[in-house]
Amino acid sequence: MDDCLFCRIVAGEIPATTVHETPAILAFRDIDPKAPVHVLVIPKDHHADVASLALADAGLAGELLAAAAAVAEAEGLRGDGFRLLFNTGGHGGQEVAHVHAHVLGGAPLGPMLC
Ligand code: C5P
Repeated sequence: MDDCLFCRIVAGEIPATTVHETPAILAFRDIDPKAPVHVLVIPKDHHADVASLALADAGLAGELLAAAAAVAEAEGLRGDGFRLLFNTGGHGGQEVAHVHAHVLGGAPLGPMLC
């Protein structure tokens, strides 16, 4: 999609710091990190949110989770733990309408709503 920020990162039109890549997945550092480690993991194909992705392509959704786990391992987060987060839709606080998993860690992250 021409007007999608993350599609433009996949296309190389907007710079990003890539930390993990497969034929179907890209992981890059969040430009405004909310934790010492903050990586976004996205499918290269455009899907608006995690629910759309899971319904359209469960295999790709699984690849996304596997890539998030690989990022957590590579960033040294497995021992102390990390947070994997999908903001979804307006009430979920999603700002970029291309599904992305936030991988957050490197320090205690504090409580969430659940
Ligand atoms: O889940 P949500 O849609 O709110 O998250 C979007 C994330 O994309 C934000 O954490 C923001 O910092 C990040 N971002 C980025 N690179 C950009 C634009 C936004 O990492 N060029």
